[in-house]
Amino acid sequence: MPREPRFDPLFQPLKIGPVTAPNRFYQVPHCTGMGFAMPETLAAMRAVKAEGGWGVVCTEYCSIDPTSDDHPAPYATLWDQGDVRNMAKIAAGVHAHGALAGVELWHGGFRSSNNLSRATPLGPVSQLTSTTPVQSARMDLADIRDYRRAHKAAALRAKEAGFDIVYVYAAHTYLLAQFLNRQINQRDDGYGGSIGNRIRLIRELLEETKEAIGDKCAIAIRLEVDDEVTPGSDPLGEKRFLLESIRDTTDLFDLTISDYYQEMGVSRFHKQGSLESFIADVRTLVGKPVVSVGRYTSPEAMLSLVKGGITDLVGAARPSIADPFIPNKIRDGRLDDIRECIGCNICYASDHQGVPLRCTQNPTMGEEWRRGWHPEIVPAASTREKVLVIGAGPAGLEAALTLGRQGHEVILTEASRELGGRLINETKLPGLQEWMRVRDYRAHQLSKLDNVAIYRESRMSAADVREIGAAHVLVATGSHWRKSGSGRYHLAGVASFDDPRTFSPDEIMAGKRPATGPIVIFDGEEYYMASALAEMLAKEGRQVTYVTGAGVVSAWSVKTAEQHLVQARLIECGVEIVVSQVVTELFPQEAELACAFSGRTRRIACAGFIPVTSREPNDALWQELSADASTFRSLTRIGDCKAPGHIAIAVHDGHRAARELGQPALVKRDRALVDAHL
Ligand code: ADP
Ligand code: SF4
Repeated sequence: MPREPRFDPLFQPLKIGPVTAPNRFYQVPHCTGMGFAMPETLAAMRAVKAEGGWGVVCTEYCSIDPTSDDHPAPYATLWDQGDVRNMAKIAAGVHAHGALAGVELWHGGFRSSNNLSRATPLGPVSQLTSTTPVQSARMDLADIRDYRRAHKAAALRAKEAGFDIVYVYAAHTYLLAQFLNRQINQRDDGYGGSIGNRIRLIRELLEETKEAIGDKCAIAIRLEVDDEVTPGSDPLGEKRFLLESIRDTTDLFDLTISDYYQEMGVSRFHKQGSLESFIADVRTLVGKPVVSVGRYTSPEAMLSLVKGGITDLVGAARPSIADPFIPNKIRDGRLDDIRECIGCNICYASDHQGVPLRCTQNPTMGEEWRRGWHPEIVPAASTREKVLVIGAGPAGLEAALTLGRQGHEVILTEASRELGGRLINETKLPGLQEWMRVRDYRAHQLSKLDNVAIYRESRMSAADVREIGAAHVLVATGSHWRKSGSGRYHLAGVASFDDPRTFSPDEIMAGKRPATGPIVIFDGEEYYMASALAEMLAKEGRQVTYVTGAGVVSAWSVKTAEQHLVQARLIECGVEIVVSQVVTELFPQEAELACAFSGRTRRIACAGFIPVTSREPNDALWQELSADASTFRSLTRIGDCKAPGHIAIAVHDGHRAARELGQPALVKRDRALVDAHL
């Protein structure tokens, strides 16, 4: 189907300095959890983005030399000829699909501890590094000269590797942003003090980079438009001077804001397009191409961004992760096939944990090289088989869709009337509505497949399953929250939790409520469930005490870049927060808490109790079928029914089970090999 002509502005080429982007879809630099250690994985993933139609595809932050080392966080490097070889593979993969390749040259300044290289951390001032109790050396003029030389050398290597757009990276509190920041930069030489002095290094780098590689490469800058000392305030205050000073030497402005947790905002707190009001005036001011992000998944919003003259290019990180093929789908008039990012930041969490990127919506993300998975193409099955999938939660839906695309005869049965499994209740929690996109995308795609039959209100027994006579059976019957308190703090549970005051999260989400009086929520899981329940109940006017053995609310949410937002929300809602304490017993009208360190106990009033500690797999059906598994060519349990986890894991598991269908595939491993060093 041809695209609708109104989307034409998104497909106009755009000249950026000496290069031309084929369209307006721009994958901005984003972390991958792969970095220099996994070059094949990285190259394959970036190439898929270009294949999907992104006109520009950039690397993640790319260190210029060993004085900027973020280990153990994964980052790219352009330190030497070995890096040129690896990075050239990324550029070539992107070029193969007609897109431009961008590289974000990076120096972390005093944010980098240099744990790997053991080079002395550097900064405009001597300050504590982010992750280690060591300080940077205050850069003297010789250090600044060396840095400029190193940046230029890395830019030349970037050109040699084939990159078309090379960044001077002046955002996100790294070295250049540190020089820019009037609170940090208390230097009294020509690089500190006045705004003219604080932007000097940025100006020099832009000029030197342009001189070195500007014949072939566009020079981009990434910067924050608001005031970094008081984020969110004074858009274009001091930055107006900076922008006016560098507009002639800069080919592309990649704009962001100081509040990284808004830029990288989860949908629970920030919606699409939240940066627009900050950046709206820059394009006119600089008169050069401008790009920015806003977790845009709607083609209409993308169009109005470009047509409205706010930006020239639609920047995206997460939308391009959730669906690397958004541009091609718009081009081909397949808007309803777009797999929209849900804003959960599981992608960010994987980078935070130092493992390759993964995505709730896109199970193939990070698996392009290792497993050879393509986000849009599933190889047709050599023989069409009858496959039964039981349970239409995220795992079952993804499995049924992937099997259907392979051409199998698929029967999907679901006990309830509605598809979606856990999503049905969880998306009623405050702020989580967008997560329903996981269900909606799959349900819509399934509706296009004639070879998939869906039966709702069909709870399957073992006898029902056998009667269907499928060759392969995938059991995706999910899990339920335990009421016993069993979890990381009480492995065997707590006998006194077996009490009429105890409600599971499932019961609360289904609408049950404890009698009037104070409610105690015990968070032993430490992701979103307990805090979301606390917020919901507090908004209903209930008195809520949130108790966690961790030091902060929803401790794991640090990895999804939302922990402090969650904690602030509970404070605003009037939830009493008790950290480093564990609920150990229920007594009449009271709950006993123990200090996680000393074990000292105390009691608080408790009329209702919600333990959020762990889940029980609903695997009874699978167990019963396993007793006589030889009836089937394969019998597999998937998703939460196998091992409860977050939704991304269930989707991936469903996808993998469908691709493999009872025959585990070989997985390649990306690593450096001896005698291969340069
Ligand atoms: P997952 O995250 O692994 O997909 P969910 O809990 O979200 O798991 O979904 C499991 C789904 O399985 C639910 O929609 C539930 O109604 C359904 N289900 C559970 N048992 C049966 C059964 N015996 N027959 C059909 N559907 C079932
Ligand atoms: Fe979007 Fe979540 Fe996927 Fe990240 S993991 S790209 S936030 S859907």
